[in-house]
Amino acid sequence: MNVDVKQIESVVRKAITRTLKENTFSSLGLGIFSDMDDAIEAASKAQGSLISMNFSKRSKLIDAMRAEMLKEENISLISQMAVDETRMGRYDHKLIKNRLAIEKTPGVEDLRAECWSGDGGLTLLEFSPFGVIGAITPTTNPSETIICNSIGMIASGNSVVFSPHPRAKNTSLKTVEILNKAIIEAGGPRNLVTTITRPSLEAVEAMMKHPKIEMLVATGGPGVVKAVLSSGKKAIGAGAGNPPAVVDETADIEKAAVDIINGCSFDNNLPCIAEKEVIVVESVADYLIFNMKQHGAYEIKDEDTIKELMKVVLNDNGNPSGEFMGKSPAYILDKIGIKVDENILVIIVEVDKDHPFVVKELMMPILPIVRVENFDKAVEVAVEVEHGNRHTAIMHSKNVDNLSRLAKEIQTTIFVKNGPSYAGIGVGGEGYSTFTIAGPTGEGLTSAKSFTRKRRCTLMGGLFIK
Ligand code: NAD
Repeated sequence: MNVDVKQIESVVRKAITRTLKENTFSSLGLGIFSDMDDAIEAASKAQGSLISMNFSKRSKLIDAMRAEMLKEENISLISQMAVDETRMGRYDHKLIKNRLAIEKTPGVEDLRAECWSGDGGLTLLEFSPFGVIGAITPTTNPSETIICNSIGMIASGNSVVFSPHPRAKNTSLKTVEILNKAIIEAGGPRNLVTTITRPSLEAVEAMMKHPKIEMLVATGGPGVVKAVLSSGKKAIGAGAGNPPAVVDETADIEKAAVDIINGCSFDNNLPCIAEKEVIVVESVADYLIFNMKQHGAYEIKDEDTIKELMKVVLNDNGNPSGEFMGKSPAYILDKIGIKVDENILVIIVEVDKDHPFVVKELMMPILPIVRVENFDKAVEVAVEVEHGNRHTAIMHSKNVDNLSRLAKEIQTTIFVKNGPSYAGIGVGGEGYSTFTIAGPTGEGLTSAKSFTRKRRCTLMGGLFIK
């Protein structure tokens, strides 16, 4: 029998995950409580200890969290657990995303004070913690969001209680446990990061109402964003996206095709920033499609086959079926009797702008392509299908005026020019990373500073030395 190394690795990883699922969370781990009130009380006590520590100590805790998560056994475990538990995404890409959250989420350096000095003296603007933050996290980036939020929130002096998605419970709880271990071993308080054994909507509601929760941060779809914004508390909402990738006639078409395939297929299209539809100017559309097919796209042209695909991946109400989110093209195509291998990264279909594949946020590697007569029309369609989410848009062009025009009209939080979407969160592109992109409430790519209260301190008459 021929068994390759990859197969052995996969069997071992699955066995580890099974063992963890069966054993770890039957008993309470570090930072894990059976009751939401207890999780909040413990986090509140821990926050009291954190603010009595100096900044260099806080910084050491963040370093320890990064180092522990980066250990091979931890990063590979949570990446594999997420794939097995949610049945979405790709192990190799989860590794990249976790590493990104660990290494590129800003720490205490994000909190540089601002100041004014002049005849009147010196005024400082400082960034202070809220206290205990309630954070709600998604299935699509379960560990990444917990790592990213924990680093930013603790760096800014808060503690955090997580309410993870029930479908990513084990991965989320394991991540909380590893982070607590790192903090405690580095001399920090227990329970700076807490969660509960049985996450549920009722538990989220209890968390939102609890008097000791002073800020809410929701990363997920429109339902959860609306819920936190209606809570009456300070809230950050990081909601859904439906990012269009626009290609005009001046673009480097070969590169645009590769970038779009890479961005769209990242973690099987789960990221909220990933290319969800292409809008291409007529004169270069055929050449773009030709190049996409050279780099891992499988095109379906036949109308009946497209209808069959729709029947499979959309529910009766026209929304994407959870079964196909984050699945590979091979898995999806197999359901309609088409066999492809893992070199196929994306399924492409040419449709009109009102097609459900364009309008809905599919979160699967099916990429609809809309052909338009000119750039004016491309802008109009891109703005329409982004639905005012103000999330992410991508454009491939060498025309600076065109690039500026779409950026201005679409008003997204992230606008990537001539690269794959993930460049916008620091993969290949410049800048820090985040897994909580707050379009609706305007914080943008959240970082430690987003989780703070601004406070002013004025000294009259002194310390002005110009
Ligand atoms: P989801 O909205 O189903 O769940 C997210 C979290 O919210 C979960 O913990 C869930 O239990 C909770 N929740 C859901 N409805 C709720 C309600 N009414 N009240 C209280 N809590 C509620 O999202 P998902 O499927 O896990 O993630 C995918 C969605 O999240 C996509 O729409 C994606 O675009 C979005 N997302 C956005 C960002 C961002 O930074 N903007 C990041 C990741 C995912």
